[in-house]
Amino acid sequence: MARKRGAAQSSGYTILVVDDQEEILTSSRFLLEREGHTVITAMDGPTALHLFRQHQIHLLLVDYFMPGMNGEDLIKEIRKLDAEVQIVLQTGYAGEKPPRTMLHALEIQGYHDKTEGPERLLLWVDVALKSAAQLQRVRRAEQLKADLLANVSHELRTPINIILGYSEILLDGESNAVTPTARRAIVGIKRQAHTLNELVNDFLNFAKIQAETIEVSPQAITVAALEEELHDLVTFALGGKPIQFQWRIGPSAPQVWADLRKVRIILGNLLSNAAKFTEHGAITVALTPVAARNAVDITVQDTGIGIAPEHHQLIFELFQQVDGSPTRRFGGMGIGLALARKLARLMEGELTVESNLGTGSIFKLTLPLFSTQQPTAPTVMTGSTLPLADAPKEQLL
Ligand code: ADP
Repeated sequence: MARKRGAAQSSGYTILVVDDQEEILTSSRFLLEREGHTVITAMDGPTALHLFRQHQIHLLLVDYFMPGMNGEDLIKEIRKLDAEVQIVLQTGYAGEKPPRTMLHALEIQGYHDKTEGPERLLLWVDVALKSAAQLQRVRRAEQLKADLLANVSHELRTPINIILGYSEILLDGESNAVTPTARRAIVGIKRQAHTLNELVNDFLNFAKIQAETIEVSPQAITVAALEEELHDLVTFALGGKPIQFQWRIGPSAPQVWADLRKVRIILGNLLSNAAKFTEHGAITVALTPVAARNAVDITVQDTGIGIAPEHHQLIFELFQQVDGSPTRRFGGMGIGLALARKLARLMEGELTVESNLGTGSIFKLTLPLFSTQQPTAPTVMTGSTLPLADAPKEQLL
């Protein structure tokens, strides 16, 4: 079917065409501009990379055979900058690797044999741009969700903190303004407000992680500093449950190379889970240096309900729980472990689990050991920024 001629309405898409043959660039430009696309051209890989960094490109049409940096090398470089941009590889020969092999190996969306003519090229372009539009919609929805989460959570913080503040005033040592029954009720209110606070912090941290604006500032952490953090966290997590707490440190106590605030968030999540899913027995936190890996393993072990091996992956995924049904016995949103693992990895560590149903669980946080060669500059993840201007201090990234 013949396509309409004349100036088309702008499609809103920008296509970068890379080819060492000028006539191909000219004919592609003519063809694609007629469809309403904005076309940018480059005759070699380095120029294409430069242009890609400068413009918002929705689709790349890349020639396979080019002198210097060939199409395959260029695509590998582009993928380092953007894992999702649409790419269609173009070739005029049949001598390279099979198209499907390239499609999978290079994570590209299409493969156009130039001998098949312009209509076939336009088909590939339409397909790729449809995916680009879908991707944009998903990204926009994700951003909206993250913004909403951040804003709502932020608004919730003030009333929660006021409730916490008033409960503290009422429980304050010498105050005999409250009867023992009222005191018990206030302790309950305070506890629930704390739980709500943790949840809101999880939401805010999650929104921040989604926006990739977390700054990790590792430093040498002493075991004493860790123990101090744990003391607070444990007292709150156990909340009067009849569970023993044990803290075990290996014979030599090395320093850990990590961001204390992030470690606090990870351990806080692990401890509150351990307490939540354990009715009696003990929670043991152990710190074991592993010289061979130049790392330290911090384990949080409980004697609770345990987790079946088929759920070991799932629980680290966002909003996933072993029992996610509305009638579930335990509260929670399924954010804690996803967040904790992400933070561990940002600090070049890892978070894993060993567990079976009914035998309790061991969560292992591995962190690098401090060595005198460690750099001191903070590691920064950058990306779009969310409106988290007044981020509260405790348990927040
Ligand atoms: P939440 O606790 O808010 O549900 P998490 O991401 O912290 O979210 O945990 C996800 C799920 O992993 C929990 O809902 C639970 O099913 C399981 N889980 C986590 N820690 C433990 C534990 N110590 N013992 C048993 N199950 C656990």
